[in-house]
Amino acid sequence: MSLLELKNVSVHYGRIEAIHDMSFSVEEGEIVSLIGANGAGKSTTMKTISGLLNPSRGSISFDGDDITKLKAHLRVVRGISQAPEGRGIFPGMTVLENLDMGAFGRADRSGMAADYERVFSLFPRLAERKTQFGGTMSGGEQQMLAIGRALMSAPRLLLLDEPSMGLAPQFIKQIFRIIAEINAQGTTILLVEQNATQALSKAHRGFVLETGAITHSGTGRELLANPAIKEAYLGVG
Ligand code: ATP
Repeated sequence: MSLLELKNVSVHYGRIEAIHDMSFSVEEGEIVSLIGANGAGKSTTMKTISGLLNPSRGSISFDGDDITKLKAHLRVVRGISQAPEGRGIFPGMTVLENLDMGAFGRADRSGMAADYERVFSLFPRLAERKTQFGGTMSGGEQQMLAIGRALMSAPRLLLLDEPSMGLAPQFIKQIFRIIAEINAQGTTILLVEQNATQALSKAHRGFVLETGAITHSGTGRELLANPAIKEAYLGVG
């Protein structure tokens, strides 16, 4: 049984169809990368999985249960957590308060304490800046905070929307190293990226999205070696 399975999912904005008849699955323990050009439907796919958007057709299951109609906050309780594009941290709250928001609704004190430690060891910068306001953190630090906050719900599936967006090259490498580490600690990860080279080299499997439909799929390595994908997404002919 797959951890996450989308079957024949279509998503509309009014009359515009942004996702058409999409099916794919994510297995427990994987990093799966979704790549595609601007407007291909990557963010729409993520929001549909986290429950911010509802599919007009098709179904979504998580750990064998149909969650197609489940509200977003209940998906978090089930184990799906999203670090949104554009970071979406709370600028007027401190680092610690932002992390607390990620743990909202949890009552397992010892598990929470372990997750704070996990976040601070993955991101030592956050540990140094516990009382700094989120809004005054640098772009890279805000990205770390957004991922840390998503981890505070102890997700089984972590959704990352463009984790490398706006980051300097040395930060991009670092973020992907940390993503691999989070995965090695046991968290399944689905990420969408424009930085296809990094995203595919860290992924067990990947999908290419074009105008709302999957056009290629394979292991990260297969997709990186595919000439058509190289030319269109990896900046080499
Ligand atoms: P990018 O890499 O630029 O973020 P994306 O692959 O994440 O792009 P989406 O944001 O999912 O793409 O958009 C898919 C399509 O849906 C685009 O044509 C976009 O214009 C359209 N779309 C997205 N949000 C809305 C909305 N709120 N209302 C109408 N159309 C929308």
